[in-house]
Amino acid sequence: MSEVEAVTSKPSNFIRNIINADIAAGKNEGHVRTRFPPEPNGYLHIGHAKSICLNFGIANDYNGECNLRFDDTNPHKENVEFVHSIKEDVRWLGFDWTDHQYFASDYFGQLYTYAVQLIEQGDAYVCDLTADDIREYRGTLTEAGKNSPCRDRSVAENLALFKGMRDGEFPDGSKLLRAKIDMASPNMNMRDPAIYRIRHGVVHHQTGSEWCIYPMYDYTHCLSDSIEGVTHSICTLEFADHKPLYDWFLDVLEVPCHPLQIEFSRLNLQYSITSKRKLTQLVDDGLVEGWNDPRMSTISGMRRRGYPAAAIREFCERIGVTKADNSVEMEILDSCIRENLNETAPRAMAVLNPLKVVITNYPEGQTEQLVAPNHPQDDSMGTRILPFTRELYIDKEDFKEEANNKFKRLVTGKEVRLRNAYVIRCDDVIKDEAGDIIELRCSYDPATLGANPEGRKVKGVIHWASAEQGIKAEIRLFDRLFNHPHPDNDKSVDDFTVHINPHSLVTLTECIIEPSLLDVIPGAVYQFEREGYFCADSELCRDGKLVFNRTVTLRDTWAKTEQQ
Ligand code: ATP
Ligand code: MG
Repeated sequence: MSEVEAVTSKPSNFIRNIINADIAAGKNEGHVRTRFPPEPNGYLHIGHAKSICLNFGIANDYNGECNLRFDDTNPHKENVEFVHSIKEDVRWLGFDWTDHQYFASDYFGQLYTYAVQLIEQGDAYVCDLTADDIREYRGTLTEAGKNSPCRDRSVAENLALFKGMRDGEFPDGSKLLRAKIDMASPNMNMRDPAIYRIRHGVVHHQTGSEWCIYPMYDYTHCLSDSIEGVTHSICTLEFADHKPLYDWFLDVLEVPCHPLQIEFSRLNLQYSITSKRKLTQLVDDGLVEGWNDPRMSTISGMRRRGYPAAAIREFCERIGVTKADNSVEMEILDSCIRENLNETAPRAMAVLNPLKVVITNYPEGQTEQLVAPNHPQDDSMGTRILPFTRELYIDKEDFKEEANNKFKRLVTGKEVRLRNAYVIRCDDVIKDEAGDIIELRCSYDPATLGANPEGRKVKGVIHWASAEQGIKAEIRLFDRLFNHPHPDNDKSVDDFTVHINPHSLVTLTECIIEPSLLDVIPGAVYQFEREGYFCADSELCRDGKLVFNRTVTLRDTWAKTEQQ
């Protein structure tokens, strides 16, 4: 292991290798500064989580800094709600930008000065072509473009026109400032790209009405990186073609430093969307409850669903960083969530589809306070009280009038153990006029609390709740929001929303949960034994109403329960 590798305990990847080599070569005096540069035009999603973990993770590991920079050059789509949500999400994920919070708009003055410098050097000009003309003059991948008739304007004329643009003398779309590079370049991004455009009448969330010209992304990004002293500017693969332009601006201008752009592949998660534009469409068209709908692949949606931040970080670690485009299976995320919650979530019991059970040999009005562990393997999580009463609920799924031995739940005439309580036997089934089962008459064996008496084998264990003291709750069962693995990328349809899964939300309103959950803290996640992990909804638990979201199912539900 080299000295540099020893700095970090994380497994290496191609980005770390580049950084290690830079440090070994003494570049940037061995310093590492990254940045996470979201545009505040939507909420962050799981793809951003990958970028956050990567950028902040690298900064942490190399004792460097990661800047949080809002890339806010497109004011008509941006607003402060998004700025706040981004900060909340990054913080919740567990990262801290300390005082390194910036806005690209902080640099508008400096960027204007740089643009003037480009004009003075003969590296930029004001162009009057219409948008249509610009497109036509640009050429194609196989054909060189044509020079704009404005390309040879004098420096003095360009300076005067650019000042005029800034002073509001020209309407939107009538002029652009363009870099003077090469209209015949095989890289379309180098064919005299726009640097500044005119936008009247928009109030920028940071700079108000101070500016009526706004710098383009490619120009802004590299210069912001340089101004901030970023050493490694990590971005997604689609920017690989923009790298020559990133470097061009930094080469022709006299700038504080020249960061290295490194591209990695975007995270695509199967059965979900990682495009802010499309997530915006879901929200704006009312197809989901909002940005934090628990089915959304947004960080706020995942938080509301009950995904622990540590599990999302673990997921980002596990999928690794590559240069190959790929799409990651949902199961990988699910298993990170399960592994985390299996250790951290207290256990509780909830009956999703209640069926009344009357214990005929249990005295009316009697209540026993049974004690149950909050976690089967972790005593430090303490215990809870489970009231046992004559009337109980079990789940409809856990009873059959007749069944073979494979059905290890309750069957007429047979026994089953109630989790954390007694063994009961079903003696009688009560039905309504339609023939539906409405109640079971059972008897309990007082000698079976906690363990089977010697020689007695009762294999099945089912969960339950007291009918008298259990509390009513709503439980929302979520499934994938899309029923297509690549909803984003199906060329056979015009509109990705056709792939929305109509059964992605099933709401159960008659659930009964154990009374220890009466004062549940919104956001807390429990394992409802045999059912899965559930999170008390942070918006809907109010005025005494209890609403739980299913975070994730238990894999191997039966394999686990049978052994208990
Ligand atoms: P979107 O396409 O969802 O709008 P974006 O790249 O335009 O994404 P930004 O706010 O500009 O959104 O992204 C901020 C940072 O997050 C960028 O560095 C971007 O490369 C990175 N990022 C965005 N989406 C993903 C993704 N799916 N996987 C990894 N990184 C991503
Ligand atoms: Mg972007």
